[in-house]
Amino acid sequence: MIVLLDNGHGGIVNNQYQTPGKRKDWGDKGVVYEGEFNRAIVNGIIQELTFLNIPYVNIAPEYWDVRLETRVKRANKYPASKCFYLSIHSNAGGGKGSEFFTSPGDTKSDKIATIFGEEYKKEFPNQKLRTDFSDGDLDKERRFYVLTRTKMPAVLTENFFMDNFEEYKNFLMTAEGRQRIINFHVKAIVKTMVEVFKEPAPNNFML
Ligand SMILES: [Zn+2]
Repeated sequence: MIVLLDNGHGGIVNNQYQTPGKRKDWGDKGVVYEGEFNRAIVNGIIQELTFLNIPYVNIAPEYWDVRLETRVKRANKYPASKCFYLSIHSNAGGGKGSEFFTSPGDTKSDKIATIFGEEYKKEFPNQKLRTDFSDGDLDKERRFYVLTRTKMPAVLTENFFMDNFEEYKNFLMTAEGRQRIINFHVKAIVKTMVEVFKEPAPNNFML
């Protein structure tokens, strides 16, 4: 199994955030740039997967914003039956908790998304899991281009809300909060490896 890691949006280059919007400015309480957060989570996952010797590809290693078409094109070069696509995001728009999205009608993706939801609940038992794994409303379809155009199973995780102050200060902008988000992703990846791809768990990992 190969994990194709997609860090949504652009990063920060010389103090310049590379993506319009996709941030929340809390004034004297700081600012969160979603693309920076997404990269931090993907980089943390990469470190753990390296320790576990689980193959991965960073689909967008650049710090500037890589077009969705390019991300999907890069992903689709890998054999669909051997990998899954994991896109990391943080939410906005008023709400709280996390949600896990798949494209409609793909049972393998649904199974993987369910594993991610379960591991999230174990790591954050007191935080909200926004259920309904099917995508649903039309206005989210464009954002989820990477789910519908990738050939392999694909899951997109929306990790907390940038515009929820509690989540911003407790999870999105602390090293500990980020590590916990990384941890549940890594556990879900290993579980996916065992339960969906039927491969043995790494020797050095306790599920
Ligand atoms: Zn996003």
